[in-house]
Amino acid sequence: MFVQQGLQDKVMSVSKWHPSAKNRLIYANGELHRLPSSISSVFKKMQPFQKPLYYAGLRDIFAKRGPMGDESIHSFVKRRFGPDVAEYLIDPLVRGICAGDCREISVNFLLKELKETEMKKKKSKPELARKAEHEGWSVWSLQGGLETLIDSMVDHLCNNGTEIKYDTKITSIELQGKKARIKMESGEEIETEQLISAIPAISLAPLLKKSHPEVSKILEDIKCVTVVASDNDPPLETFMGTSGRCINGGYRYQSTTPIELEEICKFSLSKTLGINEEPHRNSVQILKDSIPQSVGHNGRVNTIDEIISKESLPIIVTGASYKGVSVNDCVLNGIRSAENLLAR
Ligand SMILES: Cc1cc2nc3c(=O)[nH]c(=O)nc-3n(C[C@H](O)[C@H](O)[C@H](O)COP(=O)(O)OP(=O)(O)OC[C@H]3O[C@@H](n4cnc5c(N)ncnc54)[C@H](O)[C@@H]3O)c2cc1C
Repeated sequence: MFVQQGLQDKVMSVSKWHPSAKNRLIYANGELHRLPSSISSVFKKMQPFQKPLYYAGLRDIFAKRGPMGDESIHSFVKRRFGPDVAEYLIDPLVRGICAGDCREISVNFLLKELKETEMKKKKSKPELARKAEHEGWSVWSLQGGLETLIDSMVDHLCNNGTEIKYDTKITSIELQGKKARIKMESGEEIETEQLISAIPAISLAPLLKKSHPEVSKILEDIKCVTVVASDNDPPLETFMGTSGRCINGGYRYQSTTPIELEEICKFSLSKTLGINEEPHRNSVQILKDSIPQSVGHNGRVNTIDEIISKESLPIIVTGASYKGVSVNDCVLNGIRSAENLLAR
């Protein structure tokens, strides 16, 4: 996609050998601990783990099969790799990705995608993906941030005759036979034979309440957590100009005020990194109901797909609420939605 958009020269990467990729720390039992980053460290006993990590691999060989159906990521990993891996590796990792508690997040929701990716490994990879693998990228971004991708796509679409309406709130969607009628706050209406909805499930649910209460109810059950991102720039002289980003999330932040959140972020930086000075800049953004995660998630999404297919409804749902939250997932699922539409 980057190559199609002519953005390959704007991709920035950090290799897995860079100190920032090798020195990953977790805060546990009141202290920061460096995570194992080499093969030899897997054979050493490192705090906060009770045993060297290779024990976890051995345990997996003898692990009993879990319950049929869905379970939480924590229960899955604890059963297969032991409580240490669940507590000190997977819990912080999942908090970083999903801003939530791995005891409440569905194993199918996050790990099923990994499995699918693994199955597809044999396909030939695009040049940029091969470069990423060859150079051992740990993380990547674009010059100017990911917004560069959005700007480039908007240019591409507008230059090819697509009309984009900004700041337009949709107030209802009626599914009438083979047509979808979209009503907007401005009073404008659009009728279409096929609609791809990329708005969050929680926002789509009320729009479909009248015309399809059953789908609306399932959409309503796709629960999301609120994520809080706080940019906190400590004084230059203290931290060599390093910018700190503190991301908090989960059900416990659902009703916390911005001022309380700013204090929580400052407290976290003081407790974990010893930064006590007032930051030069501090901005808190509350992203309400932004990440879906509950156990049983995939079942709900499959039911929605089944109803749409069985009743030939003129709608396809896509976006972070359904089959993966990462930007990569959203792009991939957007492409799949367009392909599904063309195959109808
Ligand atoms: C703090 C944070 C950090 C993240 N970091 C990363 C990361 O590093 N890497 C990564 O891959 N992913 C990351 N993610 C996840 C990823 O960014 C999101 O999951 C993804 O961008 C969601 O895209 P989306 O288009 O599905 O939803 P959104 O971006 O939420 O878009 C939905 C749009 O629908 C609009 N909408 C809602 N209701 C209506 C209505 N009634 N009428 C019209 N429009 C409506 C909204 O205004 C919004 O513009 C992060 C997420 C968060 C919250």
